Amino acid sequence: MSRIVFDEVPGCPPRVRAVFTTRTGGESTGPHASLNLGSACGDDPGHVRANRNLLAGSTGFDPDRAATLTQVHEATVVAVGPLGGCGTFIGSLDGHAAADGMVTSEPGVALVVQGADCVPIVGWSADALTVMGVHAGWRGLMAGVVEAGAAMLGTPGSVAIGACIGPCCYPVDVDLREAIAIRFGDGAVCGESVDLRWAARAALVAAGIPSPQIVDVGGCTSCDANRYFSHRRDAGHTGRQAGLIWIEEER
Ligand SMILES: [Zn+2]
Repeated sequence: MSRIVFDEVPGCPPRVRAVFTTRTGGESTGPHASLNLGSACGDDPGHVRANRNLLAGSTGFDPDRAATLTQVHEATVVAVGPLGGCGTFIGSLDGHAAADGMVTSEPGVALVVQGADCVPIVGWSADALTVMGVHAGWRGLMAGVVEAGAAMLGTPGSVAIGACIGPCCYPVDVDLREAIAIRFGDGAVCGESVDLRWAARAALVAAGIPSPQIVDVGGCTSCDANRYFSHRRDAGHTGRQAGLIWIEEER
């Protein structure tokens, strides 16, 4: 089995860790090969659990204190206490809260947002005492999930945008292109495609996060089949990568 591959988010403050995963290094097979972290996409739950534990071992978060959501492409962002309310990796593969963003100020609680084309966003407050994770596809972007997350984060430090489907691979119908352009500006439309990353950045800036404080890790999920799951490329038969962020506990 190959080693787990993930991107470390650069520039995190001391005690904050954030990573974006790839599909490499897990135990799942077939369309979920191999580091699938999603429990609602048809994979063997035993493999998903094993993958989550492998990732925890590679990156250092506590899998017993990781919070996931039942993501529904809306704009609800929930505050996660000391494992209150949102489910865990170990106790429950699915998060209990139907929402698309989380914030927490609890050291040791890892926020996990999943995607397979949608934009994963993680961020921290200026005082590094609160962290945020948001899942933003076009529906969530239009609904305002990014702005909702930024509002709950408080005074922003920095945010990071992980790999998502690029405008190279995301043609949509004209009605959606027009709606996206009206909401986020003409730059969010490229020919017959929309640029979710551009839209997410516009939403973050509109929410008060200065552009220099937005880190873009890059990557098109659909172009890079060796590295990423892509819902559109794989016609829905695929796994989920994730963005994770947590405040390390004091030793
Ligand atoms: Zn592409």
